[in-house]
Amino acid sequence: MATDLLSRIAPGAGDGDMRDDAAALAARLTERPDVLALAEQLMQLDGPALARARRSLQKAKVAPPAAPEIDGDFLQLFRDLTPELEATRLRVREFMGREVEPIANDYWERAEFPYHLIPQFGELGLIDQIYPEQPDGSVRHDSVAEGILTMELARVDCSFATFLGVHAGLAYGSILLCGSPEQQAEWLPKMRRWESLGAFGLTEPDVGSGVAGGIATTCRRDGDAWILSGEKRWIGNSTFGDLVVIWARDVADQQVKGFIVPTTSPGYSVRKMEGKIAQRTLQNGHLVLDKVRVPETQRLQRANGFKDVARVLGMTRVGVAWIAVGCAYGAYERALAYAQKRTQFGRTLGSFQLIQAMLATMVGKLSAMQALALQVSRLQNAGKAQEHHSALAKQYCAKHCREVVALARESMGGNGILLDHSVARFFADAEAIYSYEGSNEINTLIVGRALTGVGAFV
Ligand SMILES: Cc1cc2nc3c(=O)[nH]c(=O)nc-3n(C[C@H](O)[C@H](O)[C@H](O)COP(=O)(O)OP(=O)(O)OC[C@H]3O[C@@H](n4cnc5c(N)ncnc54)[C@H](O)[C@@H]3O)c2cc1C
Repeated sequence: MATDLLSRIAPGAGDGDMRDDAAALAARLTERPDVLALAEQLMQLDGPALARARRSLQKAKVAPPAAPEIDGDFLQLFRDLTPELEATRLRVREFMGREVEPIANDYWERAEFPYHLIPQFGELGLIDQIYPEQPDGSVRHDSVAEGILTMELARVDCSFATFLGVHAGLAYGSILLCGSPEQQAEWLPKMRRWESLGAFGLTEPDVGSGVAGGIATTCRRDGDAWILSGEKRWIGNSTFGDLVVIWARDVADQQVKGFIVPTTSPGYSVRKMEGKIAQRTLQNGHLVLDKVRVPETQRLQRANGFKDVARVLGMTRVGVAWIAVGCAYGAYERALAYAQKRTQFGRTLGSFQLIQAMLATMVGKLSAMQALALQVSRLQNAGKAQEHHSALAKQYCAKHCREVVALARESMGGNGILLDHSVARFFADAEAIYSYEGSNEINTLIVGRALTGVGAFV
């Protein structure tokens, strides 16, 4: 029988040369032979020959199967975009890979923003996709386009996605939803061309989650102008932007009103916030408004109370859900690439069951986040989204993003906490996403109120 085996697995091998038999057997086994037939024949070999075959097999160099392509769009949710949106998405992906990826960790570590990239960034056509101009000259908000492009930015650098979200979402969106036609005509074209960069000032040093009833910054009518006094904190883009939409409480009627405040206004000052551990590339400012005089023409004419701030947040919050999606997307893809390359015990990390379990968990959460954000954006485009839909998307995606980035970090061992491998940056950046534009708790309470009919905020 041994002769028969040898003649089949190693033609020409001599009957008495058991050393060669074992090597040939090992070689044959690595070629994916008919395992059942070989197993039957293996049983005919004597003990020493089997031991030699085993040793040869251990030494045999088995070419690993080619690793599958890495693609965080596991459910193929983004394969049927319109040609225009797909073209912009590819432009954004190329730009982020070429210009931002190589410098992202360095700028993050130094807590600086790469201002030199803003002109190129502006040419990507993001705002034209997010707010397509209509035949009658008006603009429409395309939440799906905003989401997909935001995801692409965050997949490489969450600070870039937030930079866009503050300018094109919060600031532009405030003027679009709450400004008069004249105000829109004055500001929106400049903002579309990135000639005027916007910021959004709602949060204050002493009031974040409780802004609905607790804004302390005041506005007081004075002839044909308003006097703004107070402080704002955490205001993204405010250290270098051209205008800030400031929300303030009217001392006369106690209602919240909105103002377009140029950052060159006398009495306006800003200092950069230092020491962040998340989204360090994003520039956040602490603003002081020391009796800043703003003409009535710069008061947002269609903002009459906090419900109008909520309208803006309702539109932009799903964008934050997409930042969370992009953050998880980037971390997952990098963790998978690492698992495919890094070897321990002579095998890739990706071949270990426990690492595969982490990867499967990550892609499952990521896919659920993508599907949820996409559906809420579709509802928004159809005019059917309500505040609690975007609150759910933000809450769910930010929470699960945090879990995905933690798994990604863990799966990379020590290198997971090194900036060099980028996952550490996503891990830290997820913390900001979790807390801004309505913390996890506040968005949970918005959903809870919709479900039960009872507000449980206080
Ligand atoms: C990176 C970054 C960028 C930001 N950019 C901007 C910006 O551009 N413009 C702007 O206006 N703001 C911005 N913010 C502010 C952000 O929106 C606030 O941080 C957020 O609203 C939470 O407010 P807070 O930090 O004051 O926390 P707090 O309101 O003090 O909350 C602290 C904790 O208490 C919890 N909590 C509060 N109230 C309740 C309640 N009723 N029930 C249960 N739990 C509760 C919160 O969920 C949180 O866990 C930014 C923040 C960050 C971190």
